[in-house]
Parts: sequence; structure tokens; C-alpha cells
Amino acid sequence: MRTRHMGAATLAALTALTLAACGGSSDVGGGGDATGDSGGGDSIKIGIKFDQPGLGYQDGSDYTGFDTDVARYVADKLGYSEDQIQWVEAPSANRETMLQTGQVDMIFATYSITDERKEQVAFAGPYFVAGQDLLVAQDNTDITGPESLKGKNLCSVTGSTSAQRIKDEYAADVQLVERPSYVECVTALTAGQVDAVTTDDIILAGLAAQPANKGKVKVVGNPFSEENYGVGLPKDNDTCSKINDAIQSMIDDGSWEKAVTSNTEGTGYTPNADLNPPTPEPCA
Ligand code: GLU
Repeated sequence: MRTRHMGAATLAALTALTLAACGGSSDVGGGGDATGDSGGGDSIKIGIKFDQPGLGYQDGSDYTGFDTDVARYVADKLGYSEDQIQWVEAPSANRETMLQTGQVDMIFATYSITDERKEQVAFAGPYFVAGQDLLVAQDNTDITGPESLKGKNLCSVTGSTSAQRIKDEYAADVQLVERPSYVECVTALTAGQVDAVTTDDIILAGLAAQPANKGKVKVVGNPFSEENYGVGLPKDNDTCSKINDAIQSMIDDGSWEKAVTSNTEGTGYTPNADLNPPTPEPCA
């Protein structure tokens, strides 16, 4: 037992050393910039969702969705080819910590820009504007918006603006169940354990269109917030304005529109045309 434990500890230490040794090459702002980056074979660690179809989705060894398409476009403009991208799962509740500890260099994960989060991390963008909405059973008729949730059980994800808004604005009327990801919330909904799931409309549309959920659930279609999706960065970064330039060029050259269309195809979702495409905000 003892040797086994030591073996594991040694392995962990070696892994830590190896990671530390490689760490220099993943500095944000690497990508061929003169930032004193050492180490050849630079790569970039990008945080995405792994279980949000149409946005950030792990499909075997493929990573699909609008967030991953924007990430690829931006990474390319920063000098990273696709095979230099390391995709890392970034659950809603972990995003700030992952940026602060260097587990990722940047995050494209339906990550709303908020003043609260800006105290801990920085944002480029926005590159998309969604709105918080509700997902209910296909045959539900009494839930039409956040005002009709009185006495209902609602599921959302820990660390999301969606859960926070319910707590801040509707806490008295609603029983909120929190789960680590929206997939678990949808499972609770189709199992009849909750009356509704709440998060951004584009996320709900992607989940509702999954073969397993089709015909069982529907998006209410009455958005009650503006979620400005930003690129999460460490506070101390030198990439924010380059990322904004890349986003603007993705919008200008038509790639943004193509990515929205291809990733929402078959979901019935159309972005709010008054708010999209957004104009990236100047970096702080
Ligand atoms: N956009 C919201 C947020 O950043 C909800 C979606 C998510 O949890 O990623 O919290």
C-alpha cells in the first residue's frame, strides 16, 4: 500500500512538474507575440462547455458549437492553429477560478459579462447576446414567463447568472434546484421532478432539439434578460483588444453569421436581431 501511495504521489509530483514546465508556453498573449514566451510548440488552453449542443459540445474527439467556432476564429487571429488548441471543460461555477489559476487562457462558454464577474476576471466581447428564458414540458400551458412561476420547482445551474437572477428577483415565489449543468436540469424536467429549467434561450433551444428531448419539451420564448457573451480572460492579459478585433472581423467577413446559422439550424432559434451582432466593448 505504502509504495503504491508513494507511487501515486511521485507520479502526481512529476505531472505537476511537467505541467509547470509546459506552463510558460500557454501564457495568454503567447501565439507568436514578443511576450518572452519560451518553449516551442505553443498551445492555448480554451475553456468551453462540453454538454451544450450548438454552443460548446464534445462529440467524441470533435468539439462543436458556436462558442467553439468563435474560439477557433479568434485563436487563428492570435496565431494559433486548430491543432494548437487544448479544449478544457469549463462548467459555469468554475470559470472565474479556472482563469485565475491559469487552468485556461481564455473562456468561450456562454459566459455573460457582468460587473460582479469583472471584479475577478476580464472580458473581451461581447460576441453574442442571448436572453434568459424557460424550458417546460411540451404540454405545459401555465408557465409563460418568470411571473408565472409561483409555487413551481425550477432548475438552473450553480454559478450561472440564470440561477442568480431567480434568487435575486423571484426567490419568494420559486423553489430553485441547482445542478452542475443544464443537461441534468433537462433530465429532471423530462422525469417530472421540476416544472421548468431556466437559462439562456439559445442554450435551451439546443438542448430541446436533441433527439432524446424532441417532442418532450419546449422553450417558452419570452426572454427576460440580456446575456452578453464575453470571452473570459485573466484580469492581467494583453490579448483583450486583439480578441475584440478578431470578433469584429468575424462579424464583418460574414463568418459570424454563418456560425450562428449553422449552429442553430433545426432548433427553431433565431437570435434577437435588435441586439445581434453586438459591438465589442473597449477593453478596460
Ligand atoms: N450566460 C449565463 C452565465 O454566464 C448562463 C449560461 C451559463 O451558465 O453558462 O451564467
